[in-house]
Amino acid sequence: MIIFNSGAQLKLYLKNLQNQQKSLGFVPTMGALHRGHISLIEAARAQCEPVVCSIFVNPTQFNDLSDLQNYPRTFEADCQMLESAGCDVVFAPAVSEMYSAKELELKRLAVEDKSWAEGRTVDFGVLAEVMEGAHRPGHFNGVAQVVSKLFRIIEADKAYFGQKDFQQLAIIRSMVKQLGMPVEIIACPIVREANGLAMSSRNERLTAEERNIASLISKTLFKVKELKTSQTIADLKAIAAEEIKTEPKIQLEYFEISDTETLQPIADYSQNKNAVACIAVKLGSVRLIDNVVF
Ligand code: AMP
Repeated sequence: MIIFNSGAQLKLYLKNLQNQQKSLGFVPTMGALHRGHISLIEAARAQCEPVVCSIFVNPTQFNDLSDLQNYPRTFEADCQMLESAGCDVVFAPAVSEMYSAKELELKRLAVEDKSWAEGRTVDFGVLAEVMEGAHRPGHFNGVAQVVSKLFRIIEADKAYFGQKDFQQLAIIRSMVKQLGMPVEIIACPIVREANGLAMSSRNERLTAEERNIASLISKTLFKVKELKTSQTIADLKAIAAEEIKTEPKIQLEYFEISDTETLQPIADYSQNKNAVACIAVKLGSVRLIDNVVF
């Protein structure tokens, strides 16, 4: 496995490989890797050669400075996991490699005066107005900004994303379509802990007790899924809110039942069976998201 910090050098290396017969697979991550990330590497490994993984904690997608500062960074362990999983190339750029000072300044100003449209090249429309888009203003602009830069450097044939970030997947697909990028987006299923908790780098910041408590998040989603045909959407939402309330340490940020394509809330499951239940909560200072497709 070979590690690059420079985009130009990585680009040259990949160009020189000229491995025209096989697909180049790409897995973007922010590091602090777990089995969820590794499942994406394995999916890429099964279809592609070489497999490139990026590790970059992208400052422009954070709208909460303390979340950025506390984001776990475990580069050595990440590289060991990647090598064991058969990853060929790691791209681990510094912030200054990915962004000019001007871009970072624009982001800072956007955070301060909430002018999120600044520097935006893609319009996600209503896709970015709900759920994560509504609760983390500017988040998807930052995601699209970094992923488009990574796509331009790596020029992958296939890029792998987890359904854990369901809305992010829709945003990436929309971006690729709007910018006409020649990359196939592949969705991979959510990998969970034994207690059902969706794996996340942010779980690192939970105590053992909190990890136990956090299993209520997926239990709630699965319960709602089970009841999907016997209850109205309004009742399902009320049930989810009640369930979460049983654990005082968990604060519900949102619970939505949405169309899997448009991500807009659905009114009636019998009229729209392409539904996904999405949840975001705070457990202590840690923000967690999860979802289940009906
Ligand atoms: P992150 O490092 O959190 O930006 O995640 C990098 C990629 O890994 C994204 O495409 C995520 O959706 C995916 N991912 C994160 N957690 C999981 C999980 N538990 N199962 C499957 N994919 C995941």
